[in-house]
Amino acid sequence: LMDLYMPLNWFGTYYRAIQKNFVDMENMFDLLREDEEIVDAPGCAPLLTAGGAIEFSNVTFGYTPDKLVLRNVNFTVPAGKTIAIVGPSGAGKSTIMRLLFRFYDVQSGSISIDGQNIKLVQQQSLRKAIGVVPQDTVLFNNTIYYNIEYAKIGASADAVYEAARSADIHERILSFPDRYETKVGERGLRLSGGEKQRVAIARTLLKAPIIVLLDEATSALDTRTERNIQAALARVCTNRTTIIVAHRLSTIIHADEILVLKEGTIVERGRHEELLQRDDGVYADMWQQQLKNLDAEQNANNSSESI
Ligand code: ATP
Repeated sequence: LMDLYMPLNWFGTYYRAIQKNFVDMENMFDLLREDEEIVDAPGCAPLLTAGGAIEFSNVTFGYTPDKLVLRNVNFTVPAGKTIAIVGPSGAGKSTIMRLLFRFYDVQSGSISIDGQNIKLVQQQSLRKAIGVVPQDTVLFNNTIYYNIEYAKIGASADAVYEAARSADIHERILSFPDRYETKVGERGLRLSGGEKQRVAIARTLLKAPIIVLLDEATSALDTRTERNIQAALARVCTNRTTIIVAHRLSTIIHADEILVLKEGTIVERGRHEELLQRDDGVYADMWQQQLKNLDAEQNANNSSESI
């Protein structure tokens, strides 16, 4: 009996870990069907994507009935545009991503993509349309090749190399002992945070979804790595509808719209310059704060260098 139940429990735990951390295991859902709380509506059709326009209409949601995490959230992302969501920890930023991916159903309101309510389309088609670059990428204990190809099993080797090139990790892979056949993950070569993020970018490029969700890492990478990754990230967002959950405001100054979320409500919205001009604005405040932190960091670096 134990043997029979063990794997199911394990899947359950794993599924919840995936939900919680929003890792990039889109395809794992096929394996985990047993434990899904979300099911396809009977006879539902696949999502028909046009440009990947997203609409949140009066979305209200709570993980438990007694505590709402999002309240009447309204926004649209026109096809191919980029919006950024910022706000304090616990504001509900990642929850917006999870709802779009339909890890959970909204309590009221609706979410649609290209005019179709995501509740009423086949989940598999929904998840195929959305690529996720998570905060922390999970690598399989397998070859680096497999870890990229996984986004689109059966892709040609050329497509895998091309994705790695665009993600700026191809050359690095060629320097590994067995190149693309090098085993990575817990039991293989350990990759740095920046390298793992590049693998996530390569996967997403290979998957070529119409919508990209970027969950920016909270833990800062060093500035040079950061700058290189920005270029790869820009490539992954080009011509795709993009939602970025941002922690560093410098990464989103070009976003088409910035939503400032606080306790589950959008309290400010606009472009970077507009938001900066508001007196007592939450965003303007966050910006000032980050500038101060940056200054303090630079001063600390300068003084340690002069020692
Ligand atoms: P951070 O910047 O720290 O990642 P966030 O803005 O992304 O924060 P969310 O992860 O969306 O915040 O969480 C919003 C609220 O929902 C928090 O109060 C959090 O504790 C709660 N929450 C998140 N996931 C769950 C869950 N699986 N079950 C219950 N509550 C949850």
